[in-house]
Amino acid sequence: MFGRWFESKPDPLLEALFERASDGFLICGEDGKVLSCNPAAAHLIGDEATAVEGRHVSELFEQGPPGRFSLHSGSAMTRGRAAPGRPVDLHLTEYSGSNGAHVLARVRDASERADTQERLKQLANFDSLTGLPNRSLFRDRLAQAMARAKRQGRPMALMFLDLDRFKQVNDELGHEAGDRLLQHVGKTLTECLRAVDSVAREGGMPHTLSRLGGDEFTLIVENINGAEDAAHVASRVLEALGEPVQIGEEELVVTASIGISMYPIDDVDLDTLIRHTDMAMYRSKSHGRATYSFFSEDLSAAVTARVSLEGALRRAIERDEFVLHYQPKSDLRSGTINGVEALLRWHRPGHGLIPPDRFVGVLEDTGLILPVGAWVIRAACEQLAAWDRLGLPPLRLAVNLSARQFRHLYLASMIEDSLRQNGIDPQRLEIELTESLLMEDNEATRSMLESFRRLGVRMAIDDFGTGHSSLSYIRRFAIDTLKIDRSFVQSLPDNDEDTAICSAVIALGRNMKMCVVAEGVETAEQAQVLRELGCNEVQGYWISRPMPGADFAGWFVNYNRARTARKRSRSRYSDTSPITLFSLLD
Ligand code: C2E
Ligand code: MG
Ligand code: MG
Repeated sequence: MFGRWFESKPDPLLEALFERASDGFLICGEDGKVLSCNPAAAHLIGDEATAVEGRHVSELFEQGPPGRFSLHSGSAMTRGRAAPGRPVDLHLTEYSGSNGAHVLARVRDASERADTQERLKQLANFDSLTGLPNRSLFRDRLAQAMARAKRQGRPMALMFLDLDRFKQVNDELGHEAGDRLLQHVGKTLTECLRAVDSVAREGGMPHTLSRLGGDEFTLIVENINGAEDAAHVASRVLEALGEPVQIGEEELVVTASIGISMYPIDDVDLDTLIRHTDMAMYRSKSHGRATYSFFSEDLSAAVTARVSLEGALRRAIERDEFVLHYQPKSDLRSGTINGVEALLRWHRPGHGLIPPDRFVGVLEDTGLILPVGAWVIRAACEQLAAWDRLGLPPLRLAVNLSARQFRHLYLASMIEDSLRQNGIDPQRLEIELTESLLMEDNEATRSMLESFRRLGVRMAIDDFGTGHSSLSYIRRFAIDTLKIDRSFVQSLPDNDEDTAICSAVIALGRNMKMCVVAEGVETAEQAQVLRELGCNEVQGYWISRPMPGADFAGWFVNYNRARTARKRSRSRYSDTSPITLFSLLD
C-alpha cells in the first residue's frame, strides 16, 4: 500500500498511479525491507500485498540467500519465491527523496522472455530433427560421465553408431526420406534403450543418446560391469534397428556399424576416447557392417569368444553335450564309500571335456543354468536309481546348485518329481549351496530352503570358509553338512593356520551335529590329520578323481575288494594309491 511509505500526506495522483500500474512496484527502505507493494507486484510475487510488506526484498525472490541481495541499482531475471514462482525481471533503482534514501524495485512478468531463452538453449543443445542432444551437449555429458566413472570406479562405455549406406537412401529417395529415416532411428534407439534400462540391475544403466550430425549417433552408457554389458546393449541396439521400416513407398531395413570404447579401462582424455571409439566404428565397417567392435583388440577378442561360447552352450543343450562325472566320498572311520558328488562336464566337439569352472558362470549369466541345472538333477537321480538296480548299497548323492537356480519357481517340485520318478528317498539327496547364496537372506531364498526342508532333502554348505561364514544361517536353515574348502586342506599338515581353521570347522560341525566333509584331500597325510581332528568324511583325488557314471560301479567293486583284501592281509600300500585309506584305518 502506497500510504505506508508516504505516511504523512499521500498524493492521490501518485497513489492512483502506484495502485493501478500494470508493472509491479516495491518501495523499500535503506535496509531492504519492503515499505509498500502495489497489487501488480503482489500478483507477480504470488502473495498478498500486506504479506509482502515488511519483508526483506531478498526473501521474495530467488536470488541467493537473504541478505546477500544487492540493493544497488541494476537488473536481474529471477523468480518469485512464492508458488508458482514465475520468472520476473527485477529492476532496482536507488534514489533519495525528501523522506530519506529508498530503493524502488520494478517487477515485470518475464515468462515470455524465459520461454525464448529456453528455446534458445534448446536450439544450442539439441538436434532439431530428432530432439536428441547435439554435439555440444554430448561433449558436456561425456565429460561428466567420464568424471563419474573415475570417481565411482564404475566403467562407462562410449559407442559411435553410423548407419550403413545412409548416403544411398539420401541419394535415391531424397533428403526428406533421409530425414524421416533419421527420426525413425532416433525414436527406435530411444525406445530400445529405455527397455534395456528397465531390465538392468539395481542402479540402472543411465545413458545419453545424441546425434552428432548426418547419420552419426553416439551413446554413453554408465554404471556397467564390463565389456559384456556394453556388448549386450550394442547387440540389442542392432536388433532393434534391424526391424524393417516403411519410408514413403519403400520398406527399408537399416543397419548400423557400432564402435565401442570403455572408460577408464581405456584411460585417456575425452578427445582421445572419441577418436578411439571412431576407430572401433571403422573396424565394424570393415568387418562387413551391421556389427559392433571394441577399440581394444583384447576386449574384442574376449567378447567375441564369450559370445561364441554362449552360442555353443545353447547348442550344447539341444545336442545333449553335457555329462556328469561322479566323485566318491568316503567315511574316514570305516573307509566305506557312502556317497558321490555329481559334477558337470561339457563334451564340446573339437575341444574335449570342459570343466565346469570354464562355463558355469556363463550358464548363470544367461539363465541357461535353469535348463542345465534341471537336467543335472534328473540325470543324477536316474544314475542313482541305476546303481540301486545294480545292487550297490544305497549311496547318497550330492548335487551343486547355483544361486541363480533359486529364482526357478518350480525347482523344489522339479526335485521332488525327479526323486519320486526314480524311487529315491529324499534323505539320500544332498543339495550343495554356497555361503553367498545363504547370505542373500531374501524371501525367495528362505521359502526355497523351507521347501527343501519340507521335502526332506539334506543341505550342505560347499566351499565352507571361503565366503562370509555366518553361524546364524547354519542354525536358521538347519544345515546338515559343512564341506571344508579345498584351499584349507591343501597345505595340511604343514600350515598351522590352515590346520587351525580345519580344526575349528570340524569342532563347529560336531557341536552343531553336522557332518563335516573335507574336500580336495590328495594325500594320506592330509587324511591322517583330518581324521585326528575328528572330520567325518573325505572327498578328493586320494580316494578317486571324478569319473563317468558308467565307470563307477566297476571302481566301487574294485575298491571294496581291495579294502577287504587289505583288511585280511594287513599289508601296506603306497601313499598315492587310493587304497592307502585302509592302511590309515588299520
Ligand atoms: P565343488 O562343488 O567344490 O566341486 C569340487 C571340485 O574340486 C571339483 O571340480 C572336483 O573335481 C575338484 N576336486 C575334487 N577332489 C580334488 C582334489 O583332490 N584335488 C583337486 N585339485 N581338485 C579336486 P570341478 O568338477 O571342476 O567343479 C568345480 C566347481 O564347479 C564345483 O566345485 C561346483 O562349484 C561347480 N559345479 C560342478 N558341477 C556343477 C553343477 O552341476 N551345477 C552347478 N551349479 N555347479 C557345478
Ligand atoms: Mg560341490
Ligand atoms: Mg567345493
